[in-house]
Amino acid sequence: MGKISKGERCSVIGCGNTAVRSLSADRVKSAGLKIEADKRAYLCEGHYKEYKKKTKLDRMIEKWRYMSP
Ligand SMILES: [Zn+2]
Repeated sequence: MGKISKGERCSVIGCGNTAVRSLSADRVKSAGLKIEADKRAYLCEGHYKEYKKKTKLDRMIEKWRYMSP
């Protein structure tokens, strides 16, 4: 998981850039990105960064929730 073959395109609707990463479509969708994929989602560099930013934020919120009394 992670690396992909050459020539794949970003799954985000309206993007179409060359993909650099493949991820589970569910995870990408839950990060709030609009994609056209069922199981496997392909992300270009820009959208992968966006995905990482959003999942990082989610994890931080989760942490706060667990830490609060
Ligand atoms: Zn993209």
